[in-house]
This record gives sequence, C-alpha cells and structure tokens, in this order.
Amino acid sequence: MFDYCPKCRKPSPDFIDHKKTVCPECGFTLYQNTAAAVAVLVKQKNRYIILRRGREPGKGMLDLPGGFVDPGESAEDSCRREIREELGIKISNLRYICSRPNIYPYKGVTYHTCDMFFTAESGDDVFTRQEDEIDEILLLSKEEIEINQFAFDSIKNLLKDKLGA
Ligand SMILES: [Zn+2]
Repeated sequence: MFDYCPKCRKPSPDFIDHKKTVCPECGFTLYQNTAAAVAVLVKQKNRYIILRRGREPGKGMLDLPGGFVDPGESAEDSCRREIREELGIKISNLRYICSRPNIYPYKGVTYHTCDMFFTAESGDDVFTRQEDEIDEILLLSKEEIEINQFAFDSIKNLLKDKLGA
C-alpha cells in the first residue's frame, strides 16, 4: 500500500493479510479496516429511486442512494444524511435488510467495504439533485429496473433477492 513508511520513511513497509501495513524498522502499524457504507432502496408509491453515477468508480452506471458512514455516526443516521444530501428528501420506515462485502476502487486505493442495505419510503414528491456525483435521478417501477446496469455486485445481489428478478 505504501512505498515508504509514513513514520520513519524507510522503503517498502510490509502489507500483511490485505489489511495492515507494518514497518519492520520502526514498528509503525496502520490497519486498513473494512469501511462501513450504507445503501437505501427508497420506495415512492409504486416506484423506486435509482441514481445514475456521475463519477468513478462505475460512472454512468446505476446505484442506490447512500455512501460511507462518517466517524461517530450510526448507520441509520448515515442513511438519513446521505438521502438528505443526495436527494433533498426525508425518509420514513427505515428498515435494515442485510449486509454484503464490496470493493470500492477510488483514485488508486482499493477500499474494502461492508455495505449495509436498508429500505425506506418517502412521500416527498419533489426532490433535487444536490451533488455532482449524481448524473441522473430515476424513478423506476420494479419491472423497469435493469439490475445488470448497476455498478456494484453487492447491490446487484441485493436487488435480485429483494425484487425477485
Ligand atoms: Zn517505519
């Protein structure tokens, strides 16, 4: 992961078990732990809110609203914050469904995540795009959702289970 130890600057610290960098010189140890992330399938009447990604990884492909859990934040609060930031709406009936491992390559670093999936509902008819990371907001019926167009396997697997496709 690092070419040099971030502490003593000796070259080539060891990267062990895909999760920690250890410097044999000074003992510096840095864990690259699995990051917590959330994704929410929001139902609005008989349709679901689906996003088209505006940035890599998976630019142009479909995604669910969500993102990384902030330090000090619960998964539930993370869902509400991400939905508010991305869609400008409030959600109700937030329910945890399951979790799946995922891999998120971003700017040369591979992040291992544990994606926690939730379902929710929203009665807010109007929502606004608030971030440039979203290319398009789609409201799709169950039949219109093309699961193979989703960027991440974790979400494809969830939707296959959840929507019975
Ligand atoms: Zn060192």
